[in-house]
Amino acid sequence: MKNPDTIIIGAGAAGLICAIEAAKSGKKILLLDKAEKPAQKIRISGGGKCNFTNINVSADNYISENPHFCKSALKRYGARDFIEMVEKYNINYHEKTLGQLFCNNKAQDIIDMLLTECRKYDITIITKSNVEKISKEKDNQFKISTNNKIYKTKIVVIATGGLSIPKMGSTDFAYKVAKQFGLRVVEPTAALVPLVFDGDELEKMKKLSGISVNASVCCGKICFREGLLFTHRGLSGPSILQISSYWKKGKEIIINLCPDHNIIDILIDNKLKNPKKKVSSIINEYLPKRLTEQIIENMNLNKKIAEISNKRLEDLANRINKWSIIPKGTEGFKTAEVTKGGIDTAELSSKTFECKKVTGLYFIGEAIDVTGHLGGYNFQWAWSSGYSCGQSINALLQA
Ligand SMILES: Cc1cc2nc3c(=O)[nH]c(=O)nc-3n(C[C@H](O)[C@H](O)[C@H](O)COP(=O)(O)OP(=O)(O)OC[C@H]3O[C@@H](n4cnc5c(N)ncnc54)[C@H](O)[C@@H]3O)c2cc1C
Repeated sequence: MKNPDTIIIGAGAAGLICAIEAAKSGKKILLLDKAEKPAQKIRISGGGKCNFTNINVSADNYISENPHFCKSALKRYGARDFIEMVEKYNINYHEKTLGQLFCNNKAQDIIDMLLTECRKYDITIITKSNVEKISKEKDNQFKISTNNKIYKTKIVVIATGGLSIPKMGSTDFAYKVAKQFGLRVVEPTAALVPLVFDGDELEKMKKLSGISVNASVCCGKICFREGLLFTHRGLSGPSILQISSYWKKGKEIIINLCPDHNIIDILIDNKLKNPKKKVSSIINEYLPKRLTEQIIENMNLNKKIAEISNKRLEDLANRINKWSIIPKGTEGFKTAEVTKGGIDTAELSSKTFECKKVTGLYFIGEAIDVTGHLGGYNFQWAWSSGYSCGQSINALLQA
């Protein structure tokens, strides 16, 4: 094979879409991936149905040291653009909730679509090809060394993702390359990840394992209202995953277990109208039975409401509407859906994704310090950044 015009390292969501756009130039594009098959994260995503985008996508759904960086790529290639390709391939999809679009059938439909596009533009994909080293040679070409071959090219795109789910083959390759070329990396941390607790709090949560409620969860000024799930390790569910991306060690989170109701008003009202009613039977109308029982028992309030002081009723209401807890930590990269942090966006052009300091070197997708909320935003970032980068390479190759 003659030297490719562009090598893209990582055949995940970002790498594939970038390759397709770049290959429309008619030039030779090579995709290298260490895994046995491309796009393995797409395959397992969205519970096997791939939440491939979100119709409400905007810059507000992304976390980054520079919240403006993602705007240009999202504008250039938005949710509608990806939906158009999905529709062209007759892939049936549905909106689940909050603008989240999922395949009706399975995530493999999205992979098949991308691979068909790759074949259409004659893109070479070599799997089981672990890129171990990159260097820039005197002739300004990059030398790419894999476990079994050495390639040379003028343009290299790093699309190797973040650190989440190491058992799926995630690597810190992008960060290593960044450091090698003197680029700043924003410390990568686990995000969209369950929160863990210890001690007495954990023992209580374990007993509630499997119970879910619709909750509002806040960390500082940031709040999310979605499902919350008690687990044998602590708390999970969409609202917890969302807040985990903002939570820092030592910070408290405030949970409203019953966000549609002001429990203190309900309790005071009942004290006047139904003084003989047990407080547990009042709360039980608003929370799952096991959760109610545990709260009432722990607060020693298994009494008629008339027998409880207003101060204690207020404590109870706060325990439900303003429950303040400090997580011990997160479950870490082992179960995190994404990695927060990554290549500092200040090092990259927001239009082309080329490094400002290293001509011909590009970074896209999750490897960059742009992290989406839960709900299809991370794939949209992969599509938007991959497309924008691919288009600029396309223009460069045709110039
Ligand atoms: C369980 C789970 C479910 C998810 N569900 C959703 C969802 O429904 N919706 C959503 O928007 N987001 C979801 N995400 C997040 C989403 O999968 C990622 O944000 C997205 O895949 C990032 O795309 P990427 O191309 O940047 O990186 P990846 O998809 O991680 O691709 C990186 C590729 O690089 C390869 N690679 C790494 N190092 C090397 C190397 N040295 N040499 C060669 N190849 C290498 C890897 O094998 C991999 O194929 C989910 C994530 C997980 C873990």
